Amino acid sequence: MGSRPCQTYVGTCHCGAVRFEIETDFPELTTCDCSICRRKNALMVKVHERQFQLLAGQEELAEYQFHTKTARHFFCRTCGIYPFHRKRVTPDYLGINVFCLHDFDPAGIPIRQTVGAGMP
Ligand SMILES: [Zn+2]
Repeated sequence: MGSRPCQTYVGTCHCGAVRFEIETDFPELTTCDCSICRRKNALMVKVHERQFQLLAGQEELAEYQFHTKTARHFFCRTCGIYPFHRKRVTPDYLGINVFCLHDFDPAGIPIRQTVGAGMP
């Protein structure tokens, strides 16, 4: 059960080149202590790829990979903002940077600290 009704949210990077939409009921938000999320200070929501649509900016997205090179971390070439990434353990899911979403208030949604640093 999500914290909110299932709804569509539009997200953009800072310069607006990358634009996407997701559909979610925000069951929870997550933080992660892995080496990259810690640096991004990311607060994320997980959505299945069917609930995600890239609306614009495919060619603006740069990709960064490290470690096992399964997770795909994207950022905007122009403004450097991280909008979303493809997950490593569950590659058909994306982690979305909730602060890129328009008209979104995280108040009241449970936040779970996930452990990425200890993953093999
Ligand atoms: Zn941008």
